[in-house]
Amino acid sequence: MDARTALRADCSRCVGLCCVAPAFVASADFALTKPAGTPCPNLGADHRCGIHDRLRRSGFPGCAVFDCFGAGQHVVALTLGGADVVPSSAQRRTLHAALDPARAVMEVLHHLEECAALVTADASDTSDTSGDPATGGLAAEVRAERDRVRALLDLPVERLTAVDVDGLRRRVGPLLGRVSAAVRGGVPRGRPPRGTGPYADLAGADLTGADMRGADLRGALLVGADLRGADLDRADLLGADLRGADVRGARLAAALFLTRPQLAAARGDARTTVPAVHERPDHWR
Ligand code: SF4
Repeated sequence: MDARTALRADCSRCVGLCCVAPAFVASADFALTKPAGTPCPNLGADHRCGIHDRLRRSGFPGCAVFDCFGAGQHVVALTLGGADVVPSSAQRRTLHAALDPARAVMEVLHHLEECAALVTADASDTSDTSGDPATGGLAAEVRAERDRVRALLDLPVERLTAVDVDGLRRRVGPLLGRVSAAVRGGVPRGRPPRGTGPYADLAGADLTGADMRGADLRGALLVGADLRGADLDRADLLGADLRGADVRGARLAAALFLTRPQLAAARGDARTTVPAVHERPDHWR
């Protein structure tokens, strides 16, 4: 089983942390303003959202695309032992402080689990690209880093909260880049339109039917881009902003580092292919 399936929100084992801990500012993403640590008025006593089935049309698309990568239930388990325990005030503060760092760690782990699957599945192309005899190659390096990050989840909640997540991202980022380069180097490259590339501003760009196989689009701004029918096979979408991007009919099944929040932020349809580890977002129907 793909290890990433465990890195997703399970609200039945949480206490509605993402609806309480963060501050909201009324915007296109949230229909109201609320301070940090205050429950959203739509949150029920059962820790469930009272408008879950109509978030987008109620003005809360930011909630519809959010995913904690399983951080909510993890910090609840660490702090309370289970979601049926009523937290004390001190435990509430602990939970709220832990949510963001735990989410960051779990997102990094999500990417490393993908890397581990990639270098295992494609070992002939990727396992020896580092040329580092001390690690035995890129695959071993990935597994070692993955195991280090997994171990962070065994820490007591206070130590997990104190993890330097920016430092973690700086440390892991180059490794993700090397895996991406190795995987993309092993497949036929497409002909990405001029101007596409890492961190490119492609907001609203017409990329209809573009052949972007193996393109490096990490951090690219693709807000509202027209990607209908585009081929993004093995394209690196790490951190790419896909809000409102039209991906109807696009090939995303083998895109690299594509997360559920990115898919949920885009507009696809039944023809859009998605990675097997993810479900097709409900609003694509
Ligand atoms: S609208 Fe629903 S999902 Fe969003 S914060 Fe409020 S209770 Fe949570």
